[in-house]
Amino acid sequence: TTALDLWPARATVDLDAITANVRALRERVGGAELMAVVKADAYGHGLLPSARAALSGGACALGAAQPTEALALRAAGIDAPVLTWLVAPGTDVTPLVAAGVEVAASAPWLLDAMATAARETGVPATVHLKADTGLGRNGARSLPVHAGDPRTDWSDLVDRAARLEAEGAVRVRGLFTHFAYADAPEHPTVRGQQEAFADAVAVAERAGLRPEVRHMANSAATLTTPGAAWDMVRPGLAVYGLSPVPDLASAEELGLRPAMRVTARVAVAKRVAAGEGVSYGHTYVTPAETTLVDVPLGYADGIPRHASGAAPVQVHGSRFTIAGRVCMDQFVVDVGDLPVEAGDEVVLFGAGDDGEPTAQDWADAAGTISYEIVTRFGPRVPRVHV
Ligand code: PLP
Repeated sequence: TTALDLWPARATVDLDAITANVRALRERVGGAELMAVVKADAYGHGLLPSARAALSGGACALGAAQPTEALALRAAGIDAPVLTWLVAPGTDVTPLVAAGVEVAASAPWLLDAMATAARETGVPATVHLKADTGLGRNGARSLPVHAGDPRTDWSDLVDRAARLEAEGAVRVRGLFTHFAYADAPEHPTVRGQQEAFADAVAVAERAGLRPEVRHMANSAATLTTPGAAWDMVRPGLAVYGLSPVPDLASAEELGLRPAMRVTARVAVAKRVAAGEGVSYGHTYVTPAETTLVDVPLGYADGIPRHASGAAPVQVHGSRFTIAGRVCMDQFVVDVGDLPVEAGDEVVLFGAGDDGEPTAQDWADAAGTISYEIVTRFGPRVPRVHV
């Protein structure tokens, strides 16, 4: 017995869409390579099937945040280059080096740990050096703290890496950074970070490093800032067919196809009188005699509570809005006089070409971004790959 037999809510993932999105993104960037970002269970789409679909679309590498995600790819026999960029201080990196996982280093301790692991395992340790060119998150700061400082965290990191590379202890395959404002291509920081990255690359090259891949572009930059492609782009969201710049262009306008479709079957359908309060706090009261249907997905499954009274669903081809508050395991929809019965299908969102809402519609309704909508579905929602 599987969860699918016991509970009729699911996220169906169209793997051909992932493959086609990667192909489309590659075409946009000409000669640059593409690392498909598959962190957070491939943005909720299922790590391994999504990773394989991206590779068959021409991704030449996979990007993960946490080390366990990278190791899961290797354990499944995926041998493409895999980069992990969030390694916590004190982590034993030996299993990563042994598995041939590439590690992003923001600080010298991690270079030293990689070199030690390489000596212990006899396996070369491969790193990408991460520069903070203005995001203010991780990465070695490439800008001086005080104007005119001769040294920066980045120059220290680069010098340590060059020394370890000369000793044969690590190989620096990549240099990279990440944008703060990629979704606003006209924002001055976009140009500023491009210039800062070019400077950071020059510092590394002066120190003797000859990286194969210099990369900075996430989905938004891949789609809107061609000059940021360098040797490789690093999209996540767009791989799954969602627009990273919904205020500028829809997924369809960008030639992307949303891969995830979330559906559930009505648990209960019932006729009620006018004036009935619905769900906790009765924030919705039926305006007339109507049919209420109960949909068995709630905030414990990843439905945002902020979608209460706001997010759209599709039932038998018609759109309705969630009535009242989203509960832990269920929410209610007022379908009026539409004949709906227990067991009928409710579409929360999908590709949008059958008139169903999209993940972007849900994000707009819940005051968030589509990233959060697709990544939040929990383990109670089986992923079905088609
Ligand atoms: N690169 C890094 C370092 C990231 O952290 C992320 C995700 O936040 C990505 C690339 C992919 O970003 P996006 O999903 O916006 O394409």
